[in-house]
Amino acid sequence: MDHFTYAGGRLHAEDVPLDRIAAEVGTPVYVYSAATLTRHYLQFRKALDWTDHLICFAVKANSNLAVLKLLGDLGAGMDVVSGGEYARARAAGVPGDRIVFSGVGKTADEMRRAIAGGIRQFNVESEPELALLSQVAVAMGATVPIAIRVNPDVDARTHAKIATGKSENKFGIPIAGAPGVYARAAALPGLRVVGIDMHIGSQLTDLDPYRQAYAKMADLCRLLRDQGHAIIRLDMGGGLGIPYRRDNAAPPLPIEYGQVIRDTVGDLGCEIEIEPGRNIVGNAGVLLTSVVYLKRGEGRDFLILDAAMNDLIRPAMYDSHHEIVPVAEPPVGAEVAPVDVVGPVCETGDTFARGVELPALDSGDLVAFRSAGAYGAVMASEYNSRPLVPEVLVAGDRYAVIRPRPSIEEMLARDVVPPWL
Ligand SMILES: *Cc1c(COP(=O)(O)O)cnc(C)c1O
Repeated sequence: MDHFTYAGGRLHAEDVPLDRIAAEVGTPVYVYSAATLTRHYLQFRKALDWTDHLICFAVKANSNLAVLKLLGDLGAGMDVVSGGEYARARAAGVPGDRIVFSGVGKTADEMRRAIAGGIRQFNVESEPELALLSQVAVAMGATVPIAIRVNPDVDARTHAKIATGKSENKFGIPIAGAPGVYARAAALPGLRVVGIDMHIGSQLTDLDPYRQAYAKMADLCRLLRDQGHAIIRLDMGGGLGIPYRRDNAAPPLPIEYGQVIRDTVGDLGCEIEIEPGRNIVGNAGVLLTSVVYLKRGEGRDFLILDAAMNDLIRPAMYDSHHEIVPVAEPPVGAEVAPVDVVGPVCETGDTFARGVELPALDSGDLVAFRSAGAYGAVMASEYNSRPLVPEVLVAGDRYAVIRPRPSIEEMLARDVVPPWL
């Protein structure tokens, strides 16, 4: 459920009509709903209310400071994968002891910043990273809590580009080799082993891969404890999918996911961490855009929008589907006809969807891409020198621009022409 619904014939974000935002901020623009963000976060809290836990929002899904502050103020922790994301979480007011640092390529500089600023735990993904983290921590006179990311070799049954839990993926260490790596980690100065980490993929629509992976985690936890490691935290990763199509069977709910965690690792007495990104923010955002032209072609018509693949790359990158809906509610029984929905960028890949059944639309009409709150704005670029897409946050009948659209002059001003040219 989300808070993007028609009222009085216009699509709203909560109580704000989207055509008002389009008129005042311009298009394209991302629009997020604070009530939806809050609702989704609270669903995870309820799903884990049977145990000590921390919900670490995966910052890479949507890293706007306003979104992070909203979630942080509700008590969320953050899962970050770069020094930049760490700085964002801190700037949004999230204390270091609620921040988990993941990622396969942490640099010494990123480690230093996180240790100096405060960190809950590093999720270490390789032996060279263990060695470097130990060195950095010792040099700073610090002892840093770590979990080791293990790769359970489970098929997450999702798109190949977002599956991370198979042995051929670059993430984590093979679970079979984990005891040896834990033993070496425990012997390194500057590190304190506290947990086990897993993240098997994104947009999972089936709980079975989780069940398999978490059962392996439980076995590993018992084995490591037998070997003398004080495992007190389990980081279950993120990845729970969202409904991108209303007509499809809905993916499992957070409450059902929480039950799988309870069934598999609930008896171990560990504090549970989860790292949901998409599930919290995906359906809390739309990309609002205007029709530039309706171009009639031979055998197919093209709806050319002012949003493009540089603003929302998911269809081009992951073949993903976003529902496209007119902002003006079509009258009941309105005729629909198939159109290819495209952007203005000079790439054939700049096609959002083919043969979408839409009512008659023309220049200036507004449409919205649903489910665009996750991996949307964060992946935007200025390709074709299109200024970075702005973002708006709605709460009730209020809204605020939470990232303004740069002017073309501001965009150009970032380049430097050397004096010797
Ligand atoms: C991307 C990522 C997540 C979040 O995945 P979602 O599918 O957005 O929930 C969580 N943890 C790690 C380590 C990630 O890389």
